[in-house]
Amino acid sequence: MNARCWLLLLSLLVFNPVALAADTPKPKQPNIVFIFSDDHAYQAISAYGNPRKLLDTPNLDRIATGGMRFDRCLVPNSICGPSRATVMTGKYSHANGFYNNTNSKFDGSQVTFPKLLQKAGYQTAVIGKWHLVSEPTGFNYWQILPGQGAYYNPPMNDNGKPIKHAGYVTDIITDLSLDWLKGRDKNKPFVLMCQHKAPHREWEPALRHLGHDKDRKYPEPETLFDDYAGRGVAEQKQDMTIAKTMTQRDLKLVTPGALTAEQKKEWDAYYEPRNKAFQEMKLEGKDLVRWKYNRYMHDYLGCIKSVDESVGKVLDYLDKEGLADNTIVVYSSDQGFYLGEHGWFDKRWIFEESLRTPLLVKWPGITKPGSVNADLVSNVDFAETFLEAAGVPVPAEMQGKSLVPLLKGNTPADWRKSFYYHYYEYPGPHAVRRHYGVVTDRYKLIRFYETPGDYWELFDLKTDPQELTSVYGKPEFAKVQKELEEELARLRKELKVPDPDPAETVIGQPKKKTPN
Ligand code: CA
Repeated sequence: MNARCWLLLLSLLVFNPVALAADTPKPKQPNIVFIFSDDHAYQAISAYGNPRKLLDTPNLDRIATGGMRFDRCLVPNSICGPSRATVMTGKYSHANGFYNNTNSKFDGSQVTFPKLLQKAGYQTAVIGKWHLVSEPTGFNYWQILPGQGAYYNPPMNDNGKPIKHAGYVTDIITDLSLDWLKGRDKNKPFVLMCQHKAPHREWEPALRHLGHDKDRKYPEPETLFDDYAGRGVAEQKQDMTIAKTMTQRDLKLVTPGALTAEQKKEWDAYYEPRNKAFQEMKLEGKDLVRWKYNRYMHDYLGCIKSVDESVGKVLDYLDKEGLADNTIVVYSSDQGFYLGEHGWFDKRWIFEESLRTPLLVKWPGITKPGSVNADLVSNVDFAETFLEAAGVPVPAEMQGKSLVPLLKGNTPADWRKSFYYHYYEYPGPHAVRRHYGVVTDRYKLIRFYETPGDYWELFDLKTDPQELTSVYGKPEFAKVQKELEEELARLRKELKVPDPDPAETVIGQPKKKTPN
């Protein structure tokens, strides 16, 4: 080779970006396993401290000990469908058009993170609870429960084809998820959204978990017999108490209809003698509420046991296949849930137990094992996080912020110090009035804007962590109140919240538009 040839070769190597790129290993796009449950309270995950010692969740705790636990992950609208639409779009309800579970339908033509990741070369799948009414878009594979789905022998929809399964829903969703992982194209990164029905009402555990607690009497929350003094008409007139709202079906005083004869036999063998003893006791007043609370805890926590087992199976598979090191595992729920606090079950409120959702993230090599984050984060940030992790630009229209810096242990100095919340489903199940508000690390300013009877509340979480007494209008809080009012107005402007509520949010009889 003469000098000219050497020069030519050298110039090709130095100046040809293709030749250079071939020599530089491309950063490997991480896989994403998003495990999402329905109505899972952080109070029922042992990694969250478990003050009432409700149960141990060893597999969920594996995500926390191997990664980061977020202690203040807030949802913008604490109810199933809207929360799911937020996860998909990185937007608030008013921006993605899914306001409530009663008359909203997800517009599947909008930009979602699975679509963007699919374009970037990912294989995408959603398996389990979907609850967005329209069919999924942006997925290579989907198999979903229709609507809320059933716990036993659930019908499902397999890419448009109705299909019936035998067995328990959490196990079925787990098996389908593992089957999809086994059959995937191993040359491509993947996103798997494994979405459980459990532990949603009516809290039907797997047969193997009946009696898991050996008839334990559970520690009660301090506010089980809350009288709602110190708060307004919305709290006083809701319909979500253990005392009054729970049905015979909720309490397993009737056997679910969807069981096979064999399943029914096992079910009745557990519940029938206990129900008989209950009827004979003729409980009343607080004793009756206590019985209901303990039955609720047995059933709800029994459902969590199957979710925890499912998480263990998925983590084991990733370990066994050598995928764990390059896979982000996220566990979250569509919102928090009341486990008897304020006498309630269900969610919907801006108050802590429903506003805060669990968020555990394991990202080996990026996130320090066993770390804890107390910043204000949200499921409006999930889409942005997945996109940044995959090296895909985040569209400007998305309203959250990527959590990647936080997962690296570096919260940016300009990270949000306040969070906007807005609940719309009223009139509706559980009669929680529409409200919006601003949340900071210490305070909450809330406006219940239904008229007549609109009112404001202000809570100081430092002195009143259970949110029992509104201090709105108290002179000593005047400065804080004014600052929060200004912050609330700023957030509503920044997020472009329509005022009044748009017609799409109206449920039932058309109502007179009132400024909100
Ligand atoms: Ca839910």
